[in-house]
Amino acid sequence: MAEGLRFDLAIAGGGPAGLAAAIRARQRGLAVVVLDKRRPPLDKPCGEGLMPDAVSRLEELGVRLPHGRSAPFVGIRYVDGEVVADGLFPRGTGLGVRRLDLHRAMVERAERAGVELFWDTPVEGLAEGGLRAGGEVVRARWIVAADGLRSPLRRAAGLDAGSPGEPRFGVRRHFCRAPWTDRVEVHWGPACEAYVTPVAPDEIGVAFLWSGKSAGGFDALLWHFPRLAEQLAGAPAASRDRGCGPLRQRVRRVYRGSLALLGDASGYVDAITGEGLALAFHQAFALIDAVEQGDLRRYARAHHRIGRFPDALTRTLLAVERRPRLRRRLIRTLAADPALFTRLLGIHARTLRPKDLGWTGAWRLARGLVSG
Ligand SMILES: Cc1cc2nc3c(=O)[nH]c(=O)nc-3n(C[C@H](O)[C@H](O)[C@H](O)COP(=O)(O)OP(=O)(O)OC[C@H]3O[C@@H](n4cnc5c(N)ncnc54)[C@H](O)[C@@H]3O)c2cc1C
Repeated sequence: MAEGLRFDLAIAGGGPAGLAAAIRARQRGLAVVVLDKRRPPLDKPCGEGLMPDAVSRLEELGVRLPHGRSAPFVGIRYVDGEVVADGLFPRGTGLGVRRLDLHRAMVERAERAGVELFWDTPVEGLAEGGLRAGGEVVRARWIVAADGLRSPLRRAAGLDAGSPGEPRFGVRRHFCRAPWTDRVEVHWGPACEAYVTPVAPDEIGVAFLWSGKSAGGFDALLWHFPRLAEQLAGAPAASRDRGCGPLRQRVRRVYRGSLALLGDASGYVDAITGEGLALAFHQAFALIDAVEQGDLRRYARAHHRIGRFPDALTRTLLAVERRPRLRRRLIRTLAADPALFTRLLGIHARTLRPKDLGWTGAWRLARGLVSG
């Protein structure tokens, strides 16, 4: 393997977060190694919607997504019974892309950039001056734990703060069916949501998120959404179901010594806003900036800034998810005021700043929630 060599960065986990950091590091001329316990292309339960800012980050990294294996989306549609709210991104478009295709493209770019990639190589833990993998020590100045939601390295470093509250889970399946919309649809149901993402001209992905322990699997969840079930009737499945959870993972902090946590490993609230990939890419850029400055405190500050608005939005949506009347009011407000929905989406996708909501926007939102 890579024993004896010393890298600038050793990254545990070759998912989107780890690969984004690795490619960015190479763009800055750093020597980087990535180790993942699985073989590419890597699949994962995901809604597979890249928000416009995630698409921009991929472009900056030089990742080229394959033609005909993705589908643009221009906004988000909320569906709650008969109430439907449509919001368009004020700038840029999102992209639905299967995780397998995204991973292939990122691996291809990482290889071209000169990242040392080791697959089938579980990281066994931390070692003096590096990582332990395959019975050897991979030496590096900086260690990155990009090893996902349950991050074994986060635990080993004593940075885990548990998974509090009622657990939330996710499961996804793909269908051979042409998308019926150029939006990501979010269907709100009783203590669960369905996300419909166009991922190719002839394929859609459907992901469910739910609260509480057992939901009985994908088909039982689909039963809560008769209109969606009708739209999917007769469409053959294009993938096996994949699930994961509990989603919420808290961390004590995002670095210790020369180890930094990245992506889902650096803490996760929920997938309800569909932006885990965008967050991971922004964090990856901030991390490499901090590494170049030799100061992970900068990363911790940037990480906090990157997550502040998304965390608040996620917690708000989780709160209304549990309160059907409040949720209806929110969706009715957005349905009646598409300009407000568009502004919120712009902030969500970082093409507008939170202050662009303005007092009038905040007031319209609050008034809708109270009286809508
Ligand atoms: C149901 C659901 C829907 C979602 N929908 C969206 C969406 O629409 N849009 C969006 O942007 N985000 C979405 N997300 C979030 C998104 O999937 C994650 O934020 C994203 O995958 C994070 O990437 P990552 O690289 O941090 O982690 P992962 O993709 O989990 O990668 C971690 C990697 O670490 C490796 N690893 C683990 N342990 C070890 C070890 N010991 N040694 C070596 N390697 C190891 C794993 O093999 C894996 O490859 C969704 C999530 C869920 C659950």
